[in-house]
Amino acid sequence: MSINISIPEVQTRDQRLGTVITFHGSASQLAELSKERKVKDLGRSFSQCSDCSQRCCEGEIYLIRGAAVISHSPIGCCSPEGHQINIVNSSKMRHLEPADVQVICSNISVKDTVYGGLEKLRAAIDEAKRRFNPTAIFIMSSCAAGIVGDDIESVADEKEDELGLPIIPIYCEGFKSKTWSSGFDAAFHGILRKIVKPAEKRDENVVNVINFHGRDTFSPLLAKLNLRTNMLLPLSTIEQLSHISEAACSTQICETLGSYICEALEEKFGVPQLKSNPPYGLAWTDEWIRAIAKITKREELGEQVIQSEHERIFGELEELKQKLSGKKAYIYAGDSFSHIFTNMAHEFGIQILGVASLHHDQTRDSSADELNSLEQMIERTGDVPNMTVCNKQPYLMVKILKKYDLDVLITRHISVGVVGTKIGIPSFRVTDPNSIMGYDGLVNFGRRILEAIEAKNFYKTIGEHNVLPYSKWWLENPNPYYFDN
Ligand code: SF4
Repeated sequence: MSINISIPEVQTRDQRLGTVITFHGSASQLAELSKERKVKDLGRSFSQCSDCSQRCCEGEIYLIRGAAVISHSPIGCCSPEGHQINIVNSSKMRHLEPADVQVICSNISVKDTVYGGLEKLRAAIDEAKRRFNPTAIFIMSSCAAGIVGDDIESVADEKEDELGLPIIPIYCEGFKSKTWSSGFDAAFHGILRKIVKPAEKRDENVVNVINFHGRDTFSPLLAKLNLRTNMLLPLSTIEQLSHISEAACSTQICETLGSYICEALEEKFGVPQLKSNPPYGLAWTDEWIRAIAKITKREELGEQVIQSEHERIFGELEELKQKLSGKKAYIYAGDSFSHIFTNMAHEFGIQILGVASLHHDQTRDSSADELNSLEQMIERTGDVPNMTVCNKQPYLMVKILKKYDLDVLITRHISVGVVGTKIGIPSFRVTDPNSIMGYDGLVNFGRRILEAIEAKNFYKTIGEHNVLPYSKWWLENPNPYYFDN
């Protein structure tokens, strides 16, 4: 696709990638229909929960060190607490000075939705400058600001000239997209158009890694290839971000998070994007190492690293495979991570009885086959007959999960793991996806699955004592997709 970073706003995933949040069928049907964007998403007549693009945007920009953020929104949209915990914990994990989220909410009121909220926005920018003396100020637009049509762009330009620092509007209004992941792209778009500078030189030993805020497990692995890692974006600085165009290549931990920025860096700044599966599971990590080694011209070293890493983890990996082979799992995670977990679980010989992904992008920002994680998963693991697309919706997932005799439920999101726990299924959540990356990560993933399975009586007891909040009618209704149009 063609990317335009000179316009204020990137299209949502719904428009760009044909995102859907409802589907049930097989993985191969989903892949086949997606080729021509023919998956019909008619929505649901009842929705129990969702999330907001602003939340995904916050997960990136609140954690940029030294920057301030204005939430141009009613106070209810502004929720920095979880991000404050993340910035402190992640800073500690990466041996950085603990930092604070620096945020001000412009506090749009009912009156402002009639007369406009730009004076409050100006005041919030001045207050952010006074209070934090930041290196840049991001302005997140909210539903209220977007609906009344506040001209954030003009205020940002005016204040940028007055204060002499980058002021970056980010259009992440929740109502615009069915999938909260559109917020990632909105954040990256703002950074690409206002912060990243064209490269004056190229550093052939640096790899951009687009990831979340977890521990840095990439640097030790890439150091074995004599490469340095630019962990992006959380915990980076504005100065660091301005130079990401100088890296040898960019890679991402999942296409939901990183496809837009990696594609834009390639197309607009000439930084090659790694055309490889992300480093999750033995085969995909090998591929990833080979792709990086090729792009940075160190293929021989790449092969040596692969061989020594295989030898190093061989014993424990085999032991885990013996214990996990034949166990029955269900995967319930984001679009790419549902495919990643399926691939990893398959490597342990685990039977995948079903997969639910929280949304599905029918197309991708890149046309490279290697970056189509659904098709890559099917190629490695075979078809998954029971594939669901469902944006969380515990009421629905409870009914699906109850149909199976599961040994384990593997999840990724904070509110999702508990769905299995409440009905007595051994469940775990991959809180930090960096912890299951690469060779050690695969072993760690296997250990976590085993721990959950070995604690099955604990989960069984919870299931026996928990009362679900659903009516008898719903629990006995044979059709979990009753509310899907
Ligand atoms: S969906 Fe809209 S109103 Fe709700 S938190 Fe997000 S920006 Fe605010």
